[in-house]
Amino acid sequence: MTNPFGFTINKTRSINLDDCDYATIRELEEAVPSFKRCMYCGGCTATCSAGHFTDFNIRKNHYLFRIGQFDKIGDNLKQCMLCGKCTLVCPRGINLRSMIINMRKILAEKR
Ligand code: SF4
Ligand code: SF4
Repeated sequence: MTNPFGFTINKTRSINLDDCDYATIRELEEAVPSFKRCMYCGGCTATCSAGHFTDFNIRKNHYLFRIGQFDKIGDNLKQCMLCGKCTLVCPRGINLRSMIINMRKILAEKR
């Protein structure tokens, strides 16, 4: 809907966290315990090699996984080159490479 001020209003979106697939989230937490320590500072996204050339956003994918929005991640994770720069800069010591590899594996098994 366009309003007289020239911008559009986003559709509202709500997520029912009671319906969330917690078993899948726990699977990743068990494989990569550091997954839980993220404070969403964005350091990983700022340094991401893939993010400089594509729409890949590791922080966004990380968050979508955490709230069980797996269908929103889709094939986006394939853009990661597993270079490991994000892991080097993460202030919370999260093993992002391992996290991405396991996210890919878990999501592939769910399909
Ligand atoms: S750098 Fe680490 S703490 Fe910051 S958003 Fe990325 S994974 Fe989370
Ligand atoms: S490992 Fe993937 S997410 Fe991390 S900096 Fe490299 S391309 Fe980006």
